[in-house]
Amino acid sequence: MSDENAKCSIASRPISDFRLSIITLLGVSAFLGITPFAVMRYLQGNLLAGLVDTTILLGICSALVYAWVTGDTRRSGVVVASVACGGAVVVGIVVGEPGLFWLYPCLVTTFFLVNPRIAVALNIASVIALMVHGGAFRSDVQMWSFASTAFVVSACAYVFAHRNHDQRERLEHLATIDPLTGIKNRRSMDQELDLAAANAERTGLPYALVMLDIDHFKKINDEHGHGVGDGVLTDLVALLKQNTRKSDQLFRYGGEEFVLLLPGVDGIGLKAVMNNLQQVLRKYMKHPGGSVTASFGVALLEHGESVDSWLARADAALYEAKEAGRDRVVFADAQRTPELAAETA
Ligand code: GH3
Ligand code: MG
Ligand code: MG
Repeated sequence: MSDENAKCSIASRPISDFRLSIITLLGVSAFLGITPFAVMRYLQGNLLAGLVDTTILLGICSALVYAWVTGDTRRSGVVVASVACGGAVVVGIVVGEPGLFWLYPCLVTTFFLVNPRIAVALNIASVIALMVHGGAFRSDVQMWSFASTAFVVSACAYVFAHRNHDQRERLEHLATIDPLTGIKNRRSMDQELDLAAANAERTGLPYALVMLDIDHFKKINDEHGHGVGDGVLTDLVALLKQNTRKSDQLFRYGGEEFVLLLPGVDGIGLKAVMNNLQQVLRKYMKHPGGSVTASFGVALLEHGESVDSWLARADAALYEAKEAGRDRVVFADAQRTPELAAETA
């Protein structure tokens, strides 16, 4: 990745990672909102309150740095939510009534930082801790008013966070899943291929990429209608899924082209996999006018190779398969892997 790209992806992380944006917002708010209070308390000689403020500030800021450096927003979310709620309770106990107000923003943000069950537990524990201590309240009426308003705030935040989560999941599904076949689309494929290339670099695991294109698919559409064509696409996906491993990934590249990502296979094993797929398709792929065949271009990821080059080699192999008469498997750069040299015609 170029420096420019790396900078872009870091800068766009809060946009793509909602939890990171909340952690960042809280970190910045904590820094701007708590620092003046901490300084004021030290200046007034209230060391205990100053120390509480400093601890909260350091806890939230450390979690913020951890989230940005590691990308692990799950753990940092738990830390930020716990420190914020715990801190608000201690501030309420140490400072008294004015400190109680700090708990409200914490009750809301917990739902955006941790899963709903932990958020509910944290919120209940915080309110109960303040009520059991009781020192922050002037009267029982005030204490129960506080408990009721804290409940209403938590309930609203829960509903909002829940809806927000549902909508984000739905949007993510729409953006990454092909509606006709239910498999991942090209956008997801780009991400998975990047991950595969990074994993291959780190672990040395071989990865094969298969580009598959149905032969004379336009003719099927023209002669039997788009509905039949759609049926052929969904049948093909079902067959490919049934005849590949759980760790293999299938993507719709576009139209009647698919990409299969096969981790951990190369050499003779890869040839056997391709042979099997071709036989299965020849045997079971049918449409009302007869059988359906496909052409395959296969490329093994080479050491240090970019994803673009890997895809381009698989595509060139697929083109060769089409040129050579279709219904066949062509391995890219077969001269470098002699056991794959023979085309499976
Ligand atoms: P070749 O053997 O060279 O691959 O020929 P082909 O006819 O398969 O390829 P071509 O690219 O000429 O045609 C692909 C067709 O796939 C054209 C397009 O209308 C059709 N197609 C693309 N997406 C869909 C879809 O979702 N459903 C249906 N039914 N047809 C689709
Ligand atoms: Mg085709
Ligand atoms: Mg095509």
